[in-house]
Amino acid sequence: MSSVVARRRYLTNFEVQRLPHLFTDVLVLGSGIAGLRAALAAADECDVVVVTKDDATLSASSWAQGGIAAARAGFDSTDQHAEDTLRVACELGDAEVTQEVVTQAPRQIDELVSWGVRFDREGPDLAVGREGGHSASRILHADGDATGREIIRVLLERARAHPRIRIFERCFAIDLLTGDSRVVGALTHHAKYGHQMFWATTTILASGGVGRVFRETTNPPIATGDGLAMALRAGAILRDMEMVQFHPTTLYVAGAARALISEAVRGEGAYLVDRDGGRFMERYDPRGELASRDVVSRAIHTEMRRLQQPCMYLDVRHFQQGHFSRRFPSLARLCADFDIEPEHDLIPVRPSAHYTVGGVVTNRVGETTLPGLLAAGEVASTGLHGANRLASNSLLEGLVFGKRCGELAVKRSATHPPLSQPLPLSHRIPQSMRTELDLDDVLNSLQSVMGRNVSIERSGDRLRETIEIIEFWSRYVLDKVFDAPRAWETQNLLSVALCIATAAATRCESRGTHYRSDFPQSDGAWRCHIDIRRADDRLQVSTTPAAETT
Ligand SMILES: Cc1cc2nc3c(=O)[nH]c(=O)nc-3n(C[C@H](O)[C@H](O)[C@H](O)COP(=O)(O)OP(=O)(O)OC[C@H]3O[C@@H](n4cnc5c(N)ncnc54)[C@H](O)[C@@H]3O)c2cc1C
Repeated sequence: MSSVVARRRYLTNFEVQRLPHLFTDVLVLGSGIAGLRAALAAADECDVVVVTKDDATLSASSWAQGGIAAARAGFDSTDQHAEDTLRVACELGDAEVTQEVVTQAPRQIDELVSWGVRFDREGPDLAVGREGGHSASRILHADGDATGREIIRVLLERARAHPRIRIFERCFAIDLLTGDSRVVGALTHHAKYGHQMFWATTTILASGGVGRVFRETTNPPIATGDGLAMALRAGAILRDMEMVQFHPTTLYVAGAARALISEAVRGEGAYLVDRDGGRFMERYDPRGELASRDVVSRAIHTEMRRLQQPCMYLDVRHFQQGHFSRRFPSLARLCADFDIEPEHDLIPVRPSAHYTVGGVVTNRVGETTLPGLLAAGEVASTGLHGANRLASNSLLEGLVFGKRCGELAVKRSATHPPLSQPLPLSHRIPQSMRTELDLDDVLNSLQSVMGRNVSIERSGDRLRETIEIIEFWSRYVLDKVFDAPRAWETQNLLSVALCIATAAATRCESRGTHYRSDFPQSDGAWRCHIDIRRADDRLQVSTTPAAETT
């Protein structure tokens, strides 16, 4: 069936003659770990513009707590790190990509240290912690539980000081521009300067995930899937969008936003318990509290339903006195804000949407299916995470693929002459006669329906119903032209939600983060990726066999 989501190529009207133009070798969309690392790699030999829709410091990257995975210690090995990553990926991970990324990890850490990132130490060595799904302690962290903030501090300082990098903050990328059969830059909106056209030899998408499509999420407000929706509109392939990771432990205080309680807390020995202090994880997995996230999230979800409770609890009361607040200073402050004293009280937790496992499909160097467009970080589907992401592998992926994309952009600039004239592009959307819906209301309702029907447990009838509802709202929201970021974000969220629900309805099995109550087992016939693109006014869904996993 024709879908209004698939019909839209651009979200807004524009005429090239009427807009200001900026030219650069490399345009980076996003200032998280992937975008900044890409910009720094490209700026050695190219002019780089970074466009970011809020303050450059606001990103999932800067909110990352637990750490970054790297097998550096003598008792560990990159082979073990690769094995753990592939096990969690549930036969959809790409063995070659995984091996390459984990092999790069120690070098990436050394580079960050040489640039001034202050990872926590134990004596002269970098301290390492343990997280679920990892068979060894290999998680490096900074300021206890503020790893992302420290890494972004250093990357941003370097980028701001670089003479060939310009950062445009509060500049919203609306759409990728395509002409001459390739991506040639982006149309943006700045609160002060209005619409602008950035023309670039290479555009690097590093715009993060889409956690905000769910009401309960750990993600910052920027995580509205703009990059995913832009790429879909421009014709790129989105892969495995049904794979959304739910973090098992976010602080549950009714009425408050869901704040993440890092996996590292369980890595330090915290128990998961019910209201009466009874541990339950052993019943679900022999690894207990250190099972992978999908297993722990489902276990908590099942216990909540069984006991008719809104949450389960983390128990750290057996920690040595003062250990919790020394090791997790930000979390101790967070608990204190709600009068929770972890040394004496149980910490109420429940799962929330955390990480977009699927994304814009790329090859091993970050190239998407669209010439001129590279992608890195959470927006991309590189093959590293497969059906589920191993904890602390995403900062690592952002670094490795950010760097690769930056380096590839340098190579492309050597062979492709830079644009010096705008291409004659324009777009006009016919005026719609349909009534207007209240966008805040649509967004609230979308987040609710996604939480009810497309979260930890899914079923075919609920997914089909969700697709119908999203299509309905889309007919009234994607037919119109708006002029504010909040409205574009809502349009993007609807588009990406449709892809998530469509992919989830297509995959008739359970695997990784995707659990279908009507197909509770994995099925070898589904050892494949689900790809979505827009073609002929409809969302075209197809499958691609999974790569070798050994
Ligand atoms: C609370 C929390 C804790 C986490 N902890 C860890 C951890 O300990 N270890 C780990 O490995 N991973 C962790 N993760 C996941 C990890 O932080 C992210 O997956 C990763 O940082 C994503 O990096 P990124 O550069 O791809 O995107 P982000 O860091 O999200 O950056 C996206 C950027 O794109 C910009 N952007 C988005 N849309 C637009 C637009 N339309 N126009 C212009 N700019 C735009 C944003 O403003 C932002 O600058 C955590 C995530 C969260 C939310």
